[in-house]
Amino acid sequence: MPVTEIITIFKNFPKKHIVTLLLGFLLLISLSVLGSIDFSDEKKIPELTKPLKLKSLSENYKIEVPFLEKEAVIKRNDSLVTILNKFGVTKENIIQLINSKDSDLLSKIEVGDKIKIYLNSLGELEKLIYLDNIKSGIKAKKEGDLFLISRYESKVEKVQIFKHVVIKDSMYMSGLRENVPDSVLMDLAYINGWDIDFTHDIQPGDSFSIIYEELIIDGEKVIDGDILISEFNNRNKKFVAVRFDLDEKNSEYYNLDGENVKKAFLRSPVKLSYISSKYNLKRRHPVLHTIRAHRGVDYAANKGSPIRATGDGTIIFAEYNGGCGYEVKIKHSEDYTTRFCHLNGYSARTKVGRKIKQGQTIGYVGSTGLATGPHLHYEFHVNGKHTDPLKVKFPNANPINSNKLTSYKERSLGLVEELRNYQYLIDPREFYGG
Ligand SMILES: [Zn+2]
Repeated sequence: MPVTEIITIFKNFPKKHIVTLLLGFLLLISLSVLGSIDFSDEKKIPELTKPLKLKSLSENYKIEVPFLEKEAVIKRNDSLVTILNKFGVTKENIIQLINSKDSDLLSKIEVGDKIKIYLNSLGELEKLIYLDNIKSGIKAKKEGDLFLISRYESKVEKVQIFKHVVIKDSMYMSGLRENVPDSVLMDLAYINGWDIDFTHDIQPGDSFSIIYEELIIDGEKVIDGDILISEFNNRNKKFVAVRFDLDEKNSEYYNLDGENVKKAFLRSPVKLSYISSKYNLKRRHPVLHTIRAHRGVDYAANKGSPIRATGDGTIIFAEYNGGCGYEVKIKHSEDYTTRFCHLNGYSARTKVGRKIKQGQTIGYVGSTGLATGPHLHYEFHVNGKHTDPLKVKFPNANPINSNKLTSYKERSLGLVEELRNYQYLIDPREFYGG
């Protein structure tokens, strides 16, 4: 390279780079000076007598070909060919795939399953994986002009993870900060949602300990599994829930007495709300300004917020009713009825005589009737008598079958012991006192 060319290269260099280059030279010079100092006490390093063959080393080195990975979930009316077309797989590759032995394994694709393909840098199909569940599937790998198609099974390992979280703000945010997966936190809220109202009951200092499963497929973590046991400390009250498999498909969570954690009623009929007025037999009415008992709980929420049925039942009343405004009444059993006032409107399913499931939307928050602003007035009647919905003890959903109680107790005791061992490891004092 002629000197003038080198000079022009340097001229075009940004200043920063020249500074970096100079610093690099300085470092090299200082290193060579250090290298020439004789540390005579040190052991002499033997001299290299044979040249090292760098070339042969680099020839053995595998060069990773960048693959383009594409993935799709099978929808209605999809066929293997339409999906491969959409992925941009060549006609030639599609014909080769169909001509391959055992290609009929790929003929029965099902809605909801997943297909993954890998295209090489030339855009040719190298590999196709059809996952019919997390553990097994069908794999097709390019071999010459055809594909080698076979079923495969993955190795699935379950590991248990323990987490203890002290709540600073919300259960959800505190859990995320401690790296508890989102899906596990959702499950935790669901499992404990009958005892704890996560919008209104949580206070800083509440805590939870959980053991949950993680599925590791072929050595790579894939799925956050189920919570096996959770212990929730809410305002110094402890709630323990243990997962128990009733059969291959069904499992439920029970407390340590074998009672289902699910209750016949949800604690709160409006999710994003705050309690603006409690059950109070001597309250001054905000509109009428007279002492009038408040025989329900008011949930202030944005106009239009969905109101959910707190338990399974039948709609027995749904029309405008004086100071209550648009009203709904649900009969849950001979003993239990709930009443809702000031609705902005009804949901489509809210018709007298219709059955309703726990959690289904019956209407929307409004301020019809005698109301100062949008809120839900919610009443809970037991045997025809007004009862405080925040204090009434709800009946449990299906308890554990008596013939399974012994095996449940064994299982739950084992898990509680495991939980205690983990808790002891974090802080012996917090969990055992002293
Ligand atoms: Zn009210």
